[in-house]
Amino acid sequence: MVYYFNSLKVLDHLVSRLLNKKVLVTGSAQGIGLAVAQLFIDNGARVFLSDINDELGQKETNLLGDNAQYLHLDVSQEQDWIDVADKIKKLDVVINNAGITGFFESSGPHDPENLDMTSWHKVHQTNLDGVALGCKYGIAMMKDSTAASIVNISSRSGIVGIPAATAYASSKAAVRNHTKSVALYCAEQGYNIRCNSIHPGAILTPMWDAMLGEGDARVEAIKNVAADVPLKTMGEPLDVAYAALFLASDESKYITGIELNIDGGILAGSTATPK
Ligand code: NAP
Repeated sequence: MVYYFNSLKVLDHLVSRLLNKKVLVTGSAQGIGLAVAQLFIDNGARVFLSDINDELGQKETNLLGDNAQYLHLDVSQEQDWIDVADKIKKLDVVINNAGITGFFESSGPHDPENLDMTSWHKVHQTNLDGVALGCKYGIAMMKDSTAASIVNISSRSGIVGIPAATAYASSKAAVRNHTKSVALYCAEQGYNIRCNSIHPGAILTPMWDAMLGEGDARVEAIKNVAADVPLKTMGEPLDVAYAALFLASDESKYITGIELNIDGGILAGSTATPK
């Protein structure tokens, strides 16, 4: 009988948790997506990085060695997915990570009373259509895999209301639900494809740059965000990447349709103590 604690197996497993897996990560020129790509390559995967920021994406990919390849992919454009699927053909893992708040990519208010529909559509096209297309073409590329995994990056904002960012919150809530439909559909069809969502909160990435400002103001702003997190610090992209690694690997082979919060405890509830 092979025990789980066979030391050689554990050692092998620790250095190659994604050995021979072919992975696509969207929005991976920077931030969480780039950390995922780096960690997955360190764990034996061959990774296709992709983004709309081709210059930065190609530059970062060049630093990652022979197991990294860059492809242009605007997740909101179905033709881009068709082109990418045509190039990659077969995959084991898709990390649907690309996402925008809409604050800088579109103009107009984001509160429920005054929302601007152009902004609303832009956010949903990227965050929701992008994930739906990633699941559609991901399934097409992974049908023949014996152990495939889709990981959708939603947000803590997909679980609670965010009055100042309604489009973002709505799109991320839809990702949360779509993940479960995909998980059940793949199971019903007998595909070996699992699908789960990750819900980050307060992860320090370039997405925050414009909101945090620069210099002393940035240091102060980070302190203020951290003060509202139960663990009293902002998270790092690697905190999310390690969760994605677990859900992408065969270690999570009995897990599909779940939500994994990576948020320093924000979603655990109010930190207010009874008076
Ligand atoms: P980030 O630093 O802004 O990186 C996101 C990357 O996606 C950027 O390179 C961006 O390019 C790219 N992108 C934007 N639109 C795209 C499109 N249509 N197709 C392909 N790529 C596109 O963001 P992040 O913080 O790493 O966030 C990654 C994911 O985590 C997002 O889905 C985000 O909503 C989610 N998330 C983040 C946090 C957090 O605290 N950071 C919290 C909850 C959820 P440009 O820079 O050129 O736009």
